[in-house]
Amino acid sequence: MSSTLLSRRDLRFLLYEWLDAPRLTERPRYAEHSRETFDDVLDLAERVAAEHFAPHNRAADTSEPTVEGGRVRTIPQVKAALDVFSRTGLLAATMDSSVGGMQLPHVVSAAAFGYLQAANVGTSAYPFLTVGNANLLLAHGSAAQVDTFVRPMVQGRFFGTMCLSEPQAGSSLADITTRAEPQDDGSHRLFGTKMWISGGDHELAENIVHLVLARIPGGPPGVKGISRSSCRRCWSAPTACPARATTWCWSASTTRWATGGPPTPCSTSARGCTGRTAGPGRSATWWGSPTRAWRRCST
Ligand SMILES: Cc1cc2nc3c(=O)[nH]c(=O)nc-3n(C[C@H](O)[C@H](O)[C@H](O)COP(=O)(O)OP(=O)(O)OC[C@H]3O[C@@H](n4cnc5c(N)ncnc54)[C@H](O)[C@@H]3O)c2cc1C
Repeated sequence: MSSTLLSRRDLRFLLYEWLDAPRLTERPRYAEHSRETFDDVLDLAERVAAEHFAPHNRAADTSEPTVEGGRVRTIPQVKAALDVFSRTGLLAATMDSSVGGMQLPHVVSAAAFGYLQAANVGTSAYPFLTVGNANLLLAHGSAAQVDTFVRPMVQGRFFGTMCLSEPQAGSSLADITTRAEPQDDGSHRLFGTKMWISGGDHELAENIVHLVLARIPGGPPGVKGISRSSCRRCWSAPTACPARATTWCWSASTTRWATGGPPTPCSTSARGCTGRTAGPGRSATWWGSPTRAWRRCST
């Protein structure tokens, strides 16, 4: 198909004439691929973008996400488009075949995803956040963590977020105060408030996996306490949420992406939700809690 979303001539020039992407297929990881499979992926992304993402770009912009009865409502076209995208398998384009991925070179995947962003930057944000979340767990999580969270994300059943910012800490992440208190069973209980979390709440997937930056009490102050090399990454099991944990979405559209973007809760708080660490660390932790579990536990 030939859409006006991106210039295929420009993409071909960048991928094949300038970057010589097909040479990557000489590496064992990409040996199953060829220029033909690269083109197939570009065609697929273009078709999904043109047929399912572009048509509701304006509608999503004029009908902002709203909160009704404590639930975030988006126009139905968003979920329909994301369901189609999930079925393509492109969410796991660059991931290992062991988790259902295509082991596609990142440069080709980025070119393909360019079609989705050109079509609808708001709707495309959900899967891209999820890919980032899954990649982090693939890099630092255990096999059990991959099974529990990455596989459902790859299938499009769960979506993911990155929870870094707080009301008093945007660029200055060294100032975060959300804390993760170690428990006897090796888990952490989480206390704090995050803000501006894209895709932080919605009804588009069975669950939402939050990766949240936090400090472990007693760790070094400032940026050393949350450096990448010393941070832990963790999440909570869906059933491990204690009764005092709460989260709420004050305003789904207080901060939005450029057009019809994912709802970005103004404020999301946790009081004692359980998280589990993934990866080495001593002074800070990433934690996550599926939103549904938080809701169930809200008091
Ligand atoms: C639509 C939207 C979606 C978002 N989604 C997420 C999300 O999913 N997850 C998440 O964790 N956060 C998210 N955020 C928050 C975002 O990461 C922060 O807004 C960002 O980090 C900037 O922080 P701030 O807004 O507090 O601005 P500030 O940090 O207060 O910056 C204000 C101004 O000061 C400048 N400035 C800051 N520090 C310095 C410095 N050291 N030197 C020179 N200039 C400086 C900045 O460039 C800027 O112009 C989102 C924000 C928006 C608007």
